[in-house]
Amino acid sequence: MRLILLGPPGAGKGTQAKHLVAKHGLVQLSTGDMLRAAVKAGTSIGLRAKDAMARGELVPDDLVVAIISARIDQPDARNGFILDGFPRTVPQAHALDQMLKEKGLKLDAVIELKVDEEILLSRIKKRVAEAAARGAALRPDDDPEVLARRLLAYREYTAPLVAYYRAQSVLREVDGMAPVGQVAAAIDRGLNMVPGSQSSPKPSPKEAGPLLGPE
Ligand code: AMP
Repeated sequence: MRLILLGPPGAGKGTQAKHLVAKHGLVQLSTGDMLRAAVKAGTSIGLRAKDAMARGELVPDDLVVAIISARIDQPDARNGFILDGFPRTVPQAHALDQMLKEKGLKLDAVIELKVDEEILLSRIKKRVAEAAARGAALRPDDDPEVLARRLLAYREYTAPLVAYYRAQSVLREVDGMAPVGQVAAAIDRGLNMVPGSQSSPKPSPKEAGPLLGPE
């Protein structure tokens, strides 16, 4: 299965990706994690990405497209993968379509974690303040101002992907504000509707609605 997790920063994409890794044996491909590792290692990619990341801005499309293309070719991605944080712009989505076509691969589903941005921002601010109070290590972009910029970048560049993937009939909308376990269950129900998925192939009429919330 090849999936995309779509949603603003703090929506729980990483947490849900880990659940999907454990349940379906997929690999999680997070461009954010890859870029942070590149910054830490001081590679040329890291040097190009560092400042934009610290400001909460997106890094250039060509950079992330090249990283993802190389990563998809690795043997561990052969059984399927979850893209977490990629694509983040319409040109990246086009590049992904092209890349998958060239590699003879198909995208099965795009899961959108729908969240209330105001509540999200206050939750993230609280989490950052608590981590700082504990003396825990913070990411350079774990800063309320930077977070607000990351949310703006999401709205401007990434949110249009919802319509893009809806038009391809691969979008599954899930209520991301529910407790983690309920979000995971809603995602599973959404994936059961994916043609060719191994688990219960027939969704109930209730599950066939556009928004898969907690039961
Ligand atoms: P994340 O951990 O996914 O929130 O990503 C952290 C930061 O890495 C983002 O704020 C961007 O600066 C950069 N980044 C990650 N993925 C992408 C992407 N697909 N396109 C552009 N920038 C990205």
